[in-house]
Parts: sequence; C-alpha cells; structure tokens
Amino acid sequence: MIEITQGSFKKELQTNENVVLDFYSTECPPCEALAPKFESLDKLYGEDVRFLKIFRQENRELAGELGVSSSPTVLFFKKGKQTGEVLTGGIKRSDIMRNLDALLPQDRVSKIHSGIKPKTTETDALILGAGPGGLAAAIYLAQARIDTLLVDPALPGGQVSTTHMVSNYPGFVKPQPGFMLAHYMSEQAKEAGARMRVAVDINRVDLRKKEVVVDGHETIRANKILISTGASPRYLGIEGEKEYYGKGISYCATCDAKYYHDKQVVIIGGGNTAVEESELISKFASGITMVQQLPQLTANKAAQEKAMADPKINILYSHEPRGFEKRNDKMVVKAEDLSTGQIKEITADGVFVFVGMKPNLDLIVEPLEKDEWGYIRVDEEMRTSIPGVYAAGDVVSKKVRQITTAVADGTIASLSMARED
Ligand SMILES: Cc1cc2nc3c(=O)[nH]c(=O)nc-3n(C[C@H](O)[C@H](O)[C@H](O)COP(=O)(O)OP(=O)(O)OC[C@H]3O[C@@H](n4cnc5c(N)ncnc54)[C@H](O)[C@@H]3O)c2cc1C
Repeated sequence: MIEITQGSFKKELQTNENVVLDFYSTECPPCEALAPKFESLDKLYGEDVRFLKIFRQENRELAGELGVSSSPTVLFFKKGKQTGEVLTGGIKRSDIMRNLDALLPQDRVSKIHSGIKPKTTETDALILGAGPGGLAAAIYLAQARIDTLLVDPALPGGQVSTTHMVSNYPGFVKPQPGFMLAHYMSEQAKEAGARMRVAVDINRVDLRKKEVVVDGHETIRANKILISTGASPRYLGIEGEKEYYGKGISYCATCDAKYYHDKQVVIIGGGNTAVEESELISKFASGITMVQQLPQLTANKAAQEKAMADPKINILYSHEPRGFEKRNDKMVVKAEDLSTGQIKEITADGVFVFVGMKPNLDLIVEPLEKDEWGYIRVDEEMRTSIPGVYAAGDVVSKKVRQITTAVADGTIASLSMARED
C-alpha cells in the first residue's frame, strides 16, 4: 500500500488502470477498524489494483474535489474515472471486495477468491456484540488479563452510538452525546487490552463448539462466549420512519419522554408497552394521541383503565399509521381510518412507536432457553442453558433495558466468566 499526497494522485490514476483510495484521519476509530482490512485486501488484490491511502486533513483540496467529507471514505477508480460505491463509516471487508471485484474480469476474481486462506484465531473470551453490555464485560475481562475478543457487525457502541443525548448515565453531570459515551466505553475496552473485530460480516455462530466465523474466512475459537447482541425495536416500515428515526420519532420513553415537556405527542400502538409508557410520557407532554390499529387496547386492564382516565390521552381506535412527515419542525402522522379508508393527519412535536422489540438472535441457531418473547433466560450469574455461554444486556429476559442495566449484566457475566472453568 502506498501513502500519497494530492500532488501525486493524478499520476497514480494515469499509470494504474484500477485504483482504490482510502481517505483516513488520525483519532478516527472507524479508520482504525478499516486499516487491517485494507492492508489484507492489498495482499490479495495488489497485483491487479493499486491500493492508495491519503491523510484527509492535509489533503483537503483533493478531498473537496472528490466530494469527500468524512473519514474513512474509500473510492474506486477505473481507467482514470471514479466508479463503484462511495464507502464511508463502518466499512466491511465484503463492501470493499464487492467493489474491487467489479473492477476486474471474472476469471481474475475467481483466481483471487481461491487464494483466500482460512485463518483461525484463538481467544479465551469471545463477546458477541460491542454495545454497553459487551464493552463493560470486555473491560472487566481484559483488566483481569483474560484474552478477550469482541465481534460486532457494526462499529462499537451499540444503540448508544445512535442516541442523540444520554442524560441518565452516572458519572456525567451534563447530558452526553451518545456517540461520545459509546466512544469512551470502546476506548476503555481497547485500553484494557480487549481485541476487536468490528464492522465484520458474521457468517456462523456455533455455541456448542464455541466458534464464530467472520468475513467468510476467519474462524474464532473461544473457551467461553458472551452473547450481548442487544434488541431492536420492531419498525412499522412506513414512509418517513427511517428518515426521522431519532429526529422526531423515538422508540424509548425512558430515554426521550423528558424532551417533550408541555408538548404534543403521538404514540403508535395500544399494547402493554404503549399503554404503560403513555403514563410516563403523560408526566411531561401536554397532550397525547394514541393511534391503535384495533378497536380496543390490548394492554393489561389496570394500565388500560389508567390511560383511559387520563385527560391528556386521546385514543384513536381502528387507525393505522401510513407515513410520517416533518413540516415546520412538527411531525405529521398520516393515519388511515380502517373503517372508512380515509387518511387523517395528526400534527405533534414528537412520535413514540411502541409496536414491540425483538432480541437480536437471528444468527443463533442452538436451542437456548428463552422467555415467551424470545429473550434469553439467564441465572443470576448470567449463565445461559448452554455451558460456557453467557448473556448480558437487552438480549436477556428482564424488565428494564437501559445502559446502566446492560453494563451491570456485562459486569456480572464477566466476573462469572473469569471465575468459572
Ligand atoms: C433511541 C434510543 C435511545 C436510548 N436512550 C437511552 C438513554 O438515554 N439512557 C439509557 O440508559 N438507555 C437508553 N436506551 C437504551 C440503551 O441504548 C440500551 O438499553 C443499551 O444500549 C443496551 O445495551 P446492549 O449492549 O445490551 O445492546 P446494544 O446497545 O443494542 O448493542 C448490541 C450490539 O450487538 C451487535 N450485534 C447485533 N447482532 C449481532 C451478532 N449476531 N453478533 C455480534 N454482534 C451483534 C449490534 O451491532 C450492537 O452493536 C436507548 C435506546 C434507544 C433505541
């Protein structure tokens, strides 16, 4: 791999048919995560593609010319012209390979792929998921001199990295931007000595053999595994939901209700979570419209009665959300009246969606003991029903899912893992 400056870039393009260029920065965790992948791909594709890297801060002119505004950014060029995708953020090895393959004839691609050597990595503790639960466990394990490796398909931090502000994590007087809190946690885990494979494709998880295959060619073997893969909200999958996620649409009342003091709020859902969380939101909001697709609420009777007696809550039965829009800083919810087919527009300051959560366990095929909603059952040492396999954080069957509780679970799990054979 060659480090270039903007002055030599044109010549590189003129003399090499296929070029890949990585704009990196210092003090950039996603750049650090990318560097070993880029290097190993250079060894694989280096005969056919010229691998270049360039320090973005000192080559701003070229970055500006190529429209690069964040690090890392990886660009591809063929015969002097930019081609393929613009890769940024948590870049996976497979993302780069897809674009490199597109530069080359099929026979070369097959030849290169056949040269990929399988690799085995051994570790004592393998942690699936680098959110607060997994990172807390990694800090404790690594500080206890236990060889620890974290694996995550995304960059470290979990849901915290996408949370706008966190005001309830002890130790910080002022609310912290979620990405900073996530950054502190992952840097602390690295500082303690934990290794990381982040922004990777996870191909297979075998809990009994304690083996995980990542990026198609690396098998990680461990003595113990901690599952801390978190949970994800169920999404409505309607227009505007992705766009306004965290920018007017929230999935967590404990986290965000406080931002709606004296404001109008729409709650989507009518089950236990929606109705129970409406009680908390009602402490802040001046008015709540609850949009429920059924002709009745489905929460437990006591919670229903409370909600129905609350003068701030207006329930719109038999209505289903069809889309979200933002107009002049207000959220507009388009809801269909299921009896007439008419679309009603409800304007509010914010929207909470409570149509369920699901544990992130798609890759786990072994029959772990779970509760009726699919969350992993653990004992008080965070042991699962499979020996040597532990679980922590939101993926575990429990009542309260917060950063503090995930961190607590990770702590308990790591101490059990350190103690037990
Ligand atoms: C919008 C929002 C705002 C929130 N605000 C707050 C707040 O203000 N205060 C608070 O205390 N809590 C808040 N929470 C809740 C808090 O973020 C979670 O309780 C906490 O992050 C749970 O930590 P975790 O480590 O269990 O899981 P997560 O944070 O979900 O991390 C799980 C990690 O596992 C990875 N993963 C998924 N599948 C796999 C796999 N197969 N293999 C390996 N890794 C995998 C994911 O990429 C992720 O990085 C908020 C949640 C949301 C959604």
